[in-house]
Amino acid sequence: MTAVIGGQGISAGYGTVPVISDIDIAVNPGEVVALLGPNGAGKTTTLMALAGALPVSTGEVSWDGMRTVAPLSRRARMGMSLVTEERSVFMGLTVRQNLRIAHCDIGKVVANYPELADHLDRKAGLLSGGQQQILALARALERKPRALLADELSLGLAPQVVTRLLETVRKAADEGVAVLLVEQHVHKALHIADRVCVLRHGRIDWTGTASQAKARRAEIEESYLSG
Ligand code: ATP
Repeated sequence: MTAVIGGQGISAGYGTVPVISDIDIAVNPGEVVALLGPNGAGKTTTLMALAGALPVSTGEVSWDGMRTVAPLSRRARMGMSLVTEERSVFMGLTVRQNLRIAHCDIGKVVANYPELADHLDRKAGLLSGGQQQILALARALERKPRALLADELSLGLAPQVVTRLLETVRKAADEGVAVLLVEQHVHKALHIADRVCVLRHGRIDWTGTASQAKARRAEIEESYLSG
């Protein structure tokens, strides 16, 4: 199977400071790959390099098996959606306006995300953090992306909201989207992931299936503490 999005031997950083080195990663249609690791391991940097938001200094990023150097804006048109902890919504616009500018079918969104139904005419900035993130995911997914790159969607949100967000991500993968998920909640991430990459000090420290990772969960979580 050809991966929708992948990186072969990618290294990247900020200015002259290298952060990630020699990362190999591939996300196939229909699967969730969880990118785990301690703070500062380089998870966001990997995601940004794959998204085209950060140049790679070595290696290649591929889309549908072909090398790409397209910038973030063009990758969005190629079918890549990026959702980050920063809630990709316009806070000053209503929920309905947020959905309209993303060309979403409001009826479908309400059917798929009933928690937004009563808030269509509220400003996004007045929603709870969880509702804002559901809105961001709805905007990202309703345009039927081929790949979803999700960076710590659930940061600071209540456990049941995290579960809801991750279930939504899993459903998208089940419908064929290639999902790369950066997530701090290891247990919850392993619950929905197919494969796992653990980053440490900017390199892939371990990679395997989610069931293999579940068996090593204590070790993976331990690596978070030791940094
Ligand atoms: P976290 O869970 O804390 O977000 P992470 O694994 O996503 O961690 P990155 O955010 O990729 O890690 O950060 C990796 C390293 O790169 C860190 O040392 C961080 O300080 C540094 N870094 C991140 N963003 C920048 C930036 N814009 N400019 C300079 N250095 C940065």
